[in-house]
Amino acid sequence: MQWTVGKVEITKIVELETTGGTRFILPQVGPDDVKALPWLMPHFANDEGRLKMTIKSLVVETPSQRIVVDTCLGNDKQGRKVPAWNDLHNPFLADMTAAGYPPESIDMVLCTHLHVDHVGWNTRLVDGKWVPTFPDARYVFGQTEYAYRKNHRERPELAAVFDDSVQPIMEAGRADLVASDEKLSDEISLIPTPGHSPGHMSVLISSDGEQCLLAGDVAHHPVQLAHLDWSSTADFDPVAAAATRRELFGRFADTPTLVIGGHFDAGFIKRDGNAFRLEAFSGSTRAGG
Ligand SMILES: [Zn+2]
Repeated sequence: MQWTVGKVEITKIVELETTGGTRFILPQVGPDDVKALPWLMPHFANDEGRLKMTIKSLVVETPSQRIVVDTCLGNDKQGRKVPAWNDLHNPFLADMTAAGYPPESIDMVLCTHLHVDHVGWNTRLVDGKWVPTFPDARYVFGQTEYAYRKNHRERPELAAVFDDSVQPIMEAGRADLVASDEKLSDEISLIPTPGHSPGHMSVLISSDGEQCLLAGDVAHHPVQLAHLDWSSTADFDPVAAAATRRELFGRFADTPTLVIGGHFDAGFIKRDGNAFRLEAFSGSTRAGG
């Protein structure tokens, strides 16, 4: 799936997809809650009220750069809290290459935050060592997020993620730590969106008067646009996460800005009573503007 924003092309590379089985991340959402929001069907939920979610990367191609935003779970990783996320052997890099983006063609990797499902393909296992998957890329991490992760390794699963997917990039000298509101290029700026994690960042793409927001995990699923206070089990600060949702979605509501989530596909945010809904955009034609 591909979206066009001005001169920028955004391509989705899926690692894992699920319909249902999402209670571990959004325990408060039952089938009846989903059916009460008919706009979720069929793009974001099935007619039984089960949520659709993906773990994916977005390749953003500007006139001058190829950028991978978030890098999924990765292969061969161990020590993950979700058992099914250990020792994966997915054809993710082959899929990315088939889409026209071989790893050596990538200029930048940008992680919205440093959680397990957003950093995995930063590295791959070669001869027992974790090496950068994208050999010619600079890796951009938020400095707030990096500092927090470096100093919070108490839980073994957090230490494992940091040690196999983040720190090897630092040690290879390939990481750039940036402020959460940095402007990375003419087309790419960061928006601080803390709450899901301490240094979470969203990505605003602007080109030829058109805009697209890569929201990251500000919401895990569009159901949270209608229920801003429904925080995910992975939210670091549920109160801040809800406040960030209200602020960010309010900023882009009823505008032509296309919004793509870290785990859901594209849509336009519309005000709906005291909250919002996401109007699905399933075309691959020109968006925004
Ligand atoms: Zn995530």
